[in-house]
Amino acid sequence: MKAMLMHKPGDVRLTELPTPEPAADEVLIAIKASGICTNDVRDYHGDCSYSYPRIGGHEYCGTIVKMGDAVNPKHFQVGQNVVSYIIEDCHECNLCKTGNENICLDHLESKVFHNPDGISGYCGFAEYITAKADDLIAYEEETDFTKMAFTEPLACCVNSINRCDIRFGQDVAVVGGGTMGLLHVMLLVRKGARVIVSEPLVERRELALKLGAYAAIDPMESDPVERVRELTRGQGADFVFNTCAHPKIAVQAIDMMAPCGTCMMFSSIHPRENIPVDVSALHTFQKTVTGAVSPTVRAYYEAVQLIDKGIIDPLPVLEGVFDYTDFQSAMDTACRPDTYKVVVKFGEW
Ligand SMILES: [Zn+2]
Ligand SMILES: [Zn+2]
Repeated sequence: MKAMLMHKPGDVRLTELPTPEPAADEVLIAIKASGICTNDVRDYHGDCSYSYPRIGGHEYCGTIVKMGDAVNPKHFQVGQNVVSYIIEDCHECNLCKTGNENICLDHLESKVFHNPDGISGYCGFAEYITAKADDLIAYEEETDFTKMAFTEPLACCVNSINRCDIRFGQDVAVVGGGTMGLLHVMLLVRKGARVIVSEPLVERRELALKLGAYAAIDPMESDPVERVRELTRGQGADFVFNTCAHPKIAVQAIDMMAPCGTCMMFSSIHPRENIPVDVSALHTFQKTVTGAVSPTVRAYYEAVQLIDKGIIDPLPVLEGVFDYTDFQSAMDTACRPDTYKVVVKFGEW
């Protein structure tokens, strides 16, 4: 099979590798589409501490082409379109036992990040991949592979929103109108929230409004914290979702909260840096600052339902689809700061 092997930062080559064989409890998936994540872009720039060579790509979907002997044919069959849960959760630790498998510590120790004897990475930038049957979620409808490739990023946003008890009619601010910010907007509108987006690029603000946001503010033109307060009867937002990596913007996100508000640090802070927080205000006004990272299994399942049933159409935040043989153009596009999701296509469909 062909795989996009990153030998070192900035050096990805289309490489012939042996097609993996599924173990008894695994299936072989012919990958159809694979999204490029911000994390793949960071790997490409060497802006990470992981080992190389590496094959990126964790936002993949595809079709089952081979089954291990122990896979239950009642649940999975050859020809079925599936996505796979990508966290190497141990199923045994206290986090896994309490529905927090997305932060299972085993994952951080896995070959996804460091593999001294070979290739690290999630390996979704390849023609084939093996996956454990108990990690699979099937798509039942005739859903487009491009939409299916949004499962993992949408699931990250579902997890982020599931961690908040949002009530009808509450004010919610989304900081940043990139792919993840706008996926938040789509979900929050369906949750019955009044959504305010803070985003410097005019096209992204316009798209946010088209997707149902109540207001889209330009943080370069006026103080976004003041603007959020004005738009919320002087209260601030009940929930704030920060989708920007910049430390200074994280400070703004915290300041946007209403009394009893919650600020969700959805984005990692990159470069990693501490920020000043008015802890007294957290105390006096019972505010919460928390975080969300990868999706839980449940969030993954819910993202599949949302896309498969047509409740969420992620295509407004699709930048473009590139054939895998043109991976360099796909990566170059994903590296531009103003782009939405870039999807890499495998095979004919
Ligand atoms: Zn991702
Ligand atoms: Zn675990």
